[in-house]
Amino acid sequence: MISTNGYAAHSATTNLTPFSYEHREPGDKDILIDIQFCGICHSDIHQARNEWGNAMYPMVPGHEIVGTVAKVGSAVTKFKVGDTAAVGCMVDSCGTCGSCKAGEEQYCDKQATVFTYNSKDKAGNLTFGGYGEHIVLSEDFALSVPKNLDPAATAPLLCAGITTYSPLKHWQAGPGKKVGIIGLGGLGHMGLKFSHAFGAHTVQFTTSESKVEDAKKLGADEVILTRQEGWAAKHVGSFDFILDCVSAEHDVAPYLSLLKRDGTLCTVGLPEKPIAIHAFSVVARKNFSGSMIGGIAETQEMLDFCAKHNIVSDIEMTSFDKLDEAWERVIRGDVKYRFVLDLKTLKK
Ligand code: NAP
Ligand code: ZN
Repeated sequence: MISTNGYAAHSATTNLTPFSYEHREPGDKDILIDIQFCGICHSDIHQARNEWGNAMYPMVPGHEIVGTVAKVGSAVTKFKVGDTAAVGCMVDSCGTCGSCKAGEEQYCDKQATVFTYNSKDKAGNLTFGGYGEHIVLSEDFALSVPKNLDPAATAPLLCAGITTYSPLKHWQAGPGKKVGIIGLGGLGHMGLKFSHAFGAHTVQFTTSESKVEDAKKLGADEVILTRQEGWAAKHVGSFDFILDCVSAEHDVAPYLSLLKRDGTLCTVGLPEKPIAIHAFSVVARKNFSGSMIGGIAETQEMLDFCAKHNIVSDIEMTSFDKLDEAWERVIRGDVKYRFVLDLKTLKK
């Protein structure tokens, strides 16, 4: 077994503390990764605090992982020891259903997607994520990190990146389209970069005055401060697609009013409470949808796209001794635009 030191939540109401646990010994198709960097996603907080009602403790969060391959099984073909590899939100799935065969393992028809943490693997053991020294997984769920990308700033691409890239591709953000991004956080800032890179006219919605100038630098053609009275009026009926990246309860009615006929508001944000939609907001043939991360092949495509277009996340490095403070700042929307934990700061 691979003994591992990390940080775990033991209940919904206590802070994370140092925790030692074990990963399985790598099998024939498995690789062992020594983790270097792990992004802090708002989902880590939702889950550790049991805001989605599905928490399993002890929970070692973290699904924006970049590290070095330390061991490979005898049947591994994609990786060799010393390679830089990455892991996102999932580590396994059934592999045989229609969704898995279509490369959409996150939507496994048998609901057998094994998530990187707060999930049970096929042997029934709890999975442990990136707030720890190592991870063991099948090479089929690991990603290759292009050499020209900075490894720390690449980590957030594994969740915030793919979660925004996938729906923007699916709903064909590109030239001639007007696309909105709601919330300039970890996901939002990646959505903004991708929509801009795809050539869409991109409008950033934010509640934070302090982020308006940044949004323009990150690629927004227009920025709308939604704390201002009457902010929606000028844009009613003009958007093809809006991606909602907000982590907390908010009213989606004004955004639905901004859609064209047949336009789509897609939520990737996963607030604790249900989203209320009045029928009148959608009867003009508006679509409300959602999207969850992206498949493994699409995640590799996204990393390769980033390598080609020189896109990474804007990050602030942090350490395990400042983890509680970092989480509180994420909740306040006070991070530009993703915290990344340096595993070297983990005390053993
Ligand atoms: P984040 O970095 O905390 O960003 C959330 C942003 O939402 C904030 O920066 C803020 O932007 C805005 N916001 C926060 N509270 C708000 C409020 N009360 N009203 C209006 N806007 C508010 O979070 P994240 O890591 O990007 O994650 C965003 C959400 O996506 C979370 O719920 C997370 O669990 C979910 N998620 C989903 C998937 C998926 O597969 N679907 C994957 C990863 C994460 P402004 O300051 O610009 O207003
Ligand atoms: Zn995430």
